[in-house]
Amino acid sequence: MTFPVYYAAAQERHEPAGHPDAPARCEALLAAAADCGATTQPPGDLGLEPIAAVHSAGLLELLQTAYADFARLPEGPRPAVPDTFPVRDKGRYEHVPRNIWARLGHYCTDTLTPILPDTWSAAYASAQTALAAAEAVAAGAPLAYALCRPPGHHAYRDLYGGYCYLNNAAIAAEWLARRGRRVAVLDIDYHHGNGTQAIFYDRADVFFCSLHADPEDEYPYYAGYARETGRGAGQGYTLNLPLPPDTDDLAYRRALDVALRAIAGYAPDVLLVSLGFDTLAGDPHGGLRLAPASFRPIGRALAALGWPMLLVQEGGYLVPALRAACVALLEGILA
Ligand SMILES: [Zn+2]
Repeated sequence: MTFPVYYAAAQERHEPAGHPDAPARCEALLAAAADCGATTQPPGDLGLEPIAAVHSAGLLELLQTAYADFARLPEGPRPAVPDTFPVRDKGRYEHVPRNIWARLGHYCTDTLTPILPDTWSAAYASAQTALAAAEAVAAGAPLAYALCRPPGHHAYRDLYGGYCYLNNAAIAAEWLARRGRRVAVLDIDYHHGNGTQAIFYDRADVFFCSLHADPEDEYPYYAGYARETGRGAGQGYTLNLPLPPDTDDLAYRRALDVALRAIAGYAPDVLLVSLGFDTLAGDPHGGLRLAPASFRPIGRALAALGWPMLLVQEGGYLVPALRAACVALLEGILA
């Protein structure tokens, strides 16, 4: 079976120096998709509206203007990274100060996520890549792969961070939900999908489930605990399965079975997988013990219940292992 993989060349233009989120990641993943018979296609352009359905106007404006505003500081052009955060005072100040440092701190969660000249165009293209894959699934494709980079799952409605600027998975899920699809998001990145969780935390029309490193030990630290189960109408529609350090194949598969049983109970029309390969042993950001071959049974388990599947790429930084891990996952899904 062939299936579409979406990717835009504009995504490569975001290239922070010495940063783990390097364009070489996508070269390896594109090669893996081609190994498995995928046809690579550039996304179309659905415009800003489906992005603005998820993100605040203030965040979108900042992402488009921050680099130029920051470059006007006396120090001259350089990556825009905040140095001051309101954090625990959030919500108790009355406006966002006009100073560019203040605006960066207001809209950002950390110092890991630089804004460069082409960051906005790359993040916009990455979101369009997710939307193109959502369109394909909505049109009846059983499988579509959005090779998003920069990734998205740490971006909130009103905050960027964790290498993420726009929440590609949430943008695709929202687009599908507005077309009447019942969406389950399964986040299997090593890190908790804190942004995606927060965006849908009060809602029953998108189920969010995440397998990830225990936030007691790992980024994003302040979210991803088992006690977080949703709120209001969304109560019971968030499921977090934190994993201890050095989790191996067997324990991982057990947690994945729990996740898939919960998703089966929700009975989705579409399974959106926030796909991270930083669960591989040896990943510079990782701490679990999966091998590339571990992804074959994971792929089989994801496909076993027959839901149309939308893969949205998140993290995974062990570039030499990415192609083999992605091939194993896709072979497992297609088997
Ligand atoms: Zn990650």
